[in-house]
Amino acid sequence: MDRRTFIKKAGAGAIAAGAVISGAPAVHAQKKYRWKMVTTWPKNFPGLGTGANHLAKIIGEMSGGRLTVKVYGAKELVPAFESFDAVSRGTAEMGHAAAYYWKGKSEAAQFFAAVPFGLNAQEMAGWIHHGGGQQLWDEVYGAFNLKPFAAGNTGVQMGGWFNKEINSIADYKGLKMRMPGLGGEVIKRAGATPVSLPGGEIFPSLQSGAIDATEWVGPYNDMAFGLYKAAKYYYWPGWHEPGTVLECFVNKKAYEALPEDLQSIVTEANKAAYNDMLSEFMTKNNSALVDLVTKHNVKLKRFNDATLKKMGELSRDVVAEVAEKDALTKKVYNSFNNYRRQSVSWGSIGEEGYSLARTLTFS
Ligand code: CA
Repeated sequence: MDRRTFIKKAGAGAIAAGAVISGAPAVHAQKKYRWKMVTTWPKNFPGLGTGANHLAKIIGEMSGGRLTVKVYGAKELVPAFESFDAVSRGTAEMGHAAAYYWKGKSEAAQFFAAVPFGLNAQEMAGWIHHGGGQQLWDEVYGAFNLKPFAAGNTGVQMGGWFNKEINSIADYKGLKMRMPGLGGEVIKRAGATPVSLPGGEIFPSLQSGAIDATEWVGPYNDMAFGLYKAAKYYYWPGWHEPGTVLECFVNKKAYEALPEDLQSIVTEANKAAYNDMLSEFMTKNNSALVDLVTKHNVKLKRFNDATLKKMGELSRDVVAEVAEKDALTKKVYNSFNNYRRQSVSWGSIGEEGYSLARTLTFS
């Protein structure tokens, strides 16, 4: 080694050592990130919009202000259904939505929101975090320069608001009903015309008669929109959305540009937000259901078994057909189906077995 090389090497070593001692990584860690989050929800909408706000807030707090996220309601920055493209191209770094809105991008997306007669909220979290779902979701959204996260769950939804009784599947014939995603495809098979409308447009459409029926979420959210003022019957269970996952998608390049600790904060904040939203819906649905029935005279009705069975059969066919659209969707479908098969066994003796036992004494 000649003298110049030695000095150069020693100098580089000194810089490296100095970098550690003077806390250069800390300097790097102090870089501040200011992100925008676009959403498909009306600004501050109870549960969904506030769920997006909560996620943004905890990311800011957990990162000590190094990553802050400003939330935009639908139409504030981009229209609701343009959120996916806006984040994909980097107009905003984050989006908050439900994956079934993006079936036009990939049929596989729908499996990460809700599948008729599919997984409930706990099972969706199980499949995504421990059953291979996240890896598949990364693959589906990665093609659009997005990194997806499960960011919330509404729990099981309600079957919908109608102005006539639904006594058989034939009663869906000719019905123009707001129902997005795979559920919409199922009622189409039953002879209805499914419509996909963002939340903010549902009530005026139902009130004006532009649609005959609608589903939205459950007692808490449906009461917030005043849907009981435009329809008489409120049906259960929400077979079409047994545990709808709300998602947060991040521009992949922006996510990968974050230091590892901030990536971890984004990941874990989403898990925390998922549980927070689910527990909020659980609690507020309880009280909203009582108010709907006692204060607003809503007629609560259960779909009969024959209707549910027929819907189940149509759902099985629709979902199997969707799976044939492309290889990746088939892969997602197979994974989802395997998880459901196991869940049916454990679920019926686990949560469901317990719930039935409870009603023997407490009802
Ligand atoms: Ca819904």
